[in-house]
Amino acid sequence: STIKIKVEDTNLYYGDHQALKDINIDIYEKAVTALIGPSGCGKSTFLRCLNRMNDLIPNVRRNGKIEIAGTNVDKYDVILLRKKVGMVFQKPNPFPISIYENVAYGPRIHGVKSKAVLDDIVEKSLKEAALWDEVKDRLKNNAIGLSGGQQQRLCIARTMAVEPEVLLMDEPTSALDPASTMKIEDLMEDLKKQYTVIIVTHNMQQAGRISDYTAFFLNGEIIEYDKTENIFYKP
Ligand code: ADP
Ligand code: ADP
Repeated sequence: STIKIKVEDTNLYYGDHQALKDINIDIYEKAVTALIGPSGCGKSTFLRCLNRMNDLIPNVRRNGKIEIAGTNVDKYDVILLRKKVGMVFQKPNPFPISIYENVAYGPRIHGVKSKAVLDDIVEKSLKEAALWDEVKDRLKNNAIGLSGGQQQRLCIARTMAVEPEVLLMDEPTSALDPASTMKIEDLMEDLKKQYTVIIVTHNMQQAGRISDYTAFFLNGEIIEYDKTENIFYKP
């Protein structure tokens, strides 16, 4: 399989605190990679390196090299990088505007003006997020009226709408009920056909169910990285 993300000799410090230690990892495209490990071991920090969200935090220092699709993340225009590397958070965070406008927001920022084109993007993205059938008759309703699980799928659709290549998910189901969690887990099967998906999860069974590769973090290091079947079913 093809390498999409290459991280070499990367250390990250928040002030004096070292949150990532000598990270070296190749992440494959069209696959789901799960990041597991105890709280505070650097999983979210690692994700935030990939779209340079850490740059927003004061006193962050990072070294080493991170390449996405062969280009160093520090060489990307940050707006383009965040278009290419979409992110979904633990707590669904739709904007308090209509369902339609949530999904159209990103494409509008990137210059799409035509109503017909936006309509197509909204429909396609909501279908990709398995939400279309539930909302197609109320696209003008405020997103805040949706259930938590629907809101999270809307956030996935909003991310998909700008056609990212990489999808980062930071515990996307930990605030959701079991039925909504299952819907999102099912969705991953389809998402990974097209995207490079990286998901942080506290739930080892979830990692076992949905991921192709698993990286085990401990104290800022990756102590094990392998095909998920080898991690979970070792003799
Ligand atoms: P995880 O996602 O595995 O729970 P994090 O990446 O959130 O771990 O945190 C890794 C370490 O970095 C923790 O010790 C945490 O307290 C620290 N940390 C995270 N964010 C910041 C920040 N903005 N400033 C300072 N320290 C931070
Ligand atoms: P950018 O990626 O935004 O161009 P730099 O490559 O200069 O920024 O640095 C990466 C991050 O590390 C930035 O957020 C910057 O503020 C921070 N940084 C660089 N040097 C230091 C330092 N000595 N102490 C604290 N933070 C630093």
